[in-house]
Amino acid sequence: GLRWGIVGATTIAREWMIGAIRESGGEVVSVMSSNAERGKAYARENGIPHSTKSLSTLLGKDIDAVYIATTNDKHKAQTLAAAKAGIHVLCEKPLALKLSDAHQMVAACKTAGVVMGTNHHLRNAATIRAIRDAVAGGKIGKPLFARVFHAVHLPPHLQGWRIKDAKAGSGVVMDITVHDADTLRFVLGEEPVSVTAYTQQGGMGGSGIEDGVMGVVRFKSGLLAQFHDAFTTEYAATGFEVHGSEGSVIGTNCMKQRPVGDVVLRDATGERKLEIKPENLYVSSVTAFQNAVRGKGQPAATGEDGIRSMALALAALKSARTGREALVEPGL
Ligand code: NDP
Repeated sequence: GLRWGIVGATTIAREWMIGAIRESGGEVVSVMSSNAERGKAYARENGIPHSTKSLSTLLGKDIDAVYIATTNDKHKAQTLAAAKAGIHVLCEKPLALKLSDAHQMVAACKTAGVVMGTNHHLRNAATIRAIRDAVAGGKIGKPLFARVFHAVHLPPHLQGWRIKDAKAGSGVVMDITVHDADTLRFVLGEEPVSVTAYTQQGGMGGSGIEDGVMGVVRFKSGLLAQFHDAFTTEYAATGFEVHGSEGSVIGTNCMKQRPVGDVVLRDATGERKLEIKPENLYVSSVTAFQNAVRGKGQPAATGEDGIRSMALALAALKSARTGREALVEPGL
């Protein structure tokens, strides 16, 4: 297994990724926190042998890969430093706040010859894969529309920088719409062209920070996809649907971190539930990344996928700001 350094003493690492690394045969060697005391406590609580305040100390610790999950403003500098040290990078989404920064990150990893992945977990969901397979297998005929229901309630322990700190990369669009973007591209196998969106401040987000959004994306084939994301809806259910000329494939409760949810296919013959074999999404992410490091295949979502999901989210924000359709321009 790979030897990993964790950059950021974070909730996502504690709740999912440290366990996923271990379950994939990897070893968590050290954690970096900007606060020495917090870092020490985090290492102790999570059974990590070392903690440090210094990224260069972490990178010097005989590790193969870093998992970067700091706030979004920090991903860029940390990725560039890891690449320079010849260390593979699995980075959280959004890769950065600006597209040009994400491009620099991907280019730096390429130049250094290290693998770069973006931790878009939903492509690894058995539900989402079943929807993709149904669409690709022609089960719904020509796909015409998609609908993404990803309005959730931000739990109290996460009501920090995401709703308060614009400099850290706050707001529901950079937090959740990026996942919709990646999932839509993955399921549909095509690229978005333009988007129109309206954002909302429904009472949770701080000054100027959106906590809800609805929008419509136009894809190359003419397919239209609507998305609805929020931090503020405690009682909404998530879902992902694709509607085609010959059928509809409908996932419910499937935009989740946990491997839950159902998928049904409806067509002229009636309705049937698709078989889902639930697997831990984050274990799949780490496993694909580790295989890519060993020269087998690609990370589940690559650095380029991270650029493309950001491009759609940034276009949605631009549309909301200007009141006009915005082009999705990843620059790839
Ligand atoms: P957290 O809010 O848990 O951590 C972010 C930073 O805040 C940490 O790096 C840490 O700084 C600091 N911090 C954390 N807890 C405390 C505390 N109690 N007191 C003071 N500072 C604290 O972030 P998340 O885990 O929610 O998100 C991290 C990244 O992961 C983001 O980029 C996010 O978009 C992404 N994410 C991805 C998910 C996915 O499924 N792909 C799911 C959730 C998040 P330091 O490290 O310096 O100690």
